[in-house]
Amino acid sequence: MCESCWVLIAKADDDEFLDSLDLNHAERAVLNELYKQGESRVTEILELQGKELLAAILELSEELQVDPDELARLIEDVQSGELFQVKFIEAIQEAFAPLFQYAGETELKALDESKVWAVENTAAARFTSQLEDLVPSMNDTTKDVMLRSLERAIAEGATPSERALLVQEVSRTAAEGEEGPFSMQRAQRVARTFSTAAANGGKLEGWRQSEIAKGKRWRSAAGTRTRKSHRKANNQVVPLEKPFDVGDSKLMHPGDPAGESKEIVNCRCSMQLVID
Ligand SMILES: [Zn+2]
Repeated sequence: MCESCWVLIAKADDDEFLDSLDLNHAERAVLNELYKQGESRVTEILELQGKELLAAILELSEELQVDPDELARLIEDVQSGELFQVKFIEAIQEAFAPLFQYAGETELKALDESKVWAVENTAAARFTSQLEDLVPSMNDTTKDVMLRSLERAIAEGATPSERALLVQEVSRTAAEGEEGPFSMQRAQRVARTFSTAAANGGKLEGWRQSEIAKGKRWRSAAGTRTRKSHRKANNQVVPLEKPFDVGDSKLMHPGDPAGESKEIVNCRCSMQLVID
């Protein structure tokens, strides 16, 4: 797809996504800014990961370049490097955790002007660490996708040098972010998963602190891309402290980081307050 077409589609998609967060009284501009910050942090990290992996692969001998075990080890090495651990945690703490706080505070103020959002609240800290726990499974996905493409390349080559060349080509394409786990599309998917988790998690915490909220209603995102299990959950009402039944999972809110990734990745559902 042409670059400008992709940008236009991504922009329309972003608007739709931000609408879906459905923060009744939120300033859209602040929300947009936090979301964009998160997205650009994730994009930057994935780009760097892709480049570092390519550099590491190019340093291997031709023989090791076509050894799947060696390639798997290399991918793990890149991901477990301090640089990426630190950068991911920074992105979560500086972009997604504020989104949680902002969403929560906004809801709380809307429900009860006199209440003050607890800045150092334990729920926010717990939530931040839950988001951090998503990083390993995200890295696992990167590893699986990358290894599959590399193994395909190895299977396609007729001679040892041809196999090595194909591996280099796949790594280079991935590092350039044209497709695969280091691409902009992937970064957007990760950022959306985190944003949905943060915005809805924050809302729930704001409702808790209001002490007047009784329950919550699942609102599935409109459109054909919404999962069947999430469409089925539409309008489900549960008490505030009880999880929703979504597919086989129990989720406290859309994007609940404690849930299974098949129910949270790229979810755009939201939830509504039930007062009585
Ligand atoms: Zn959903």
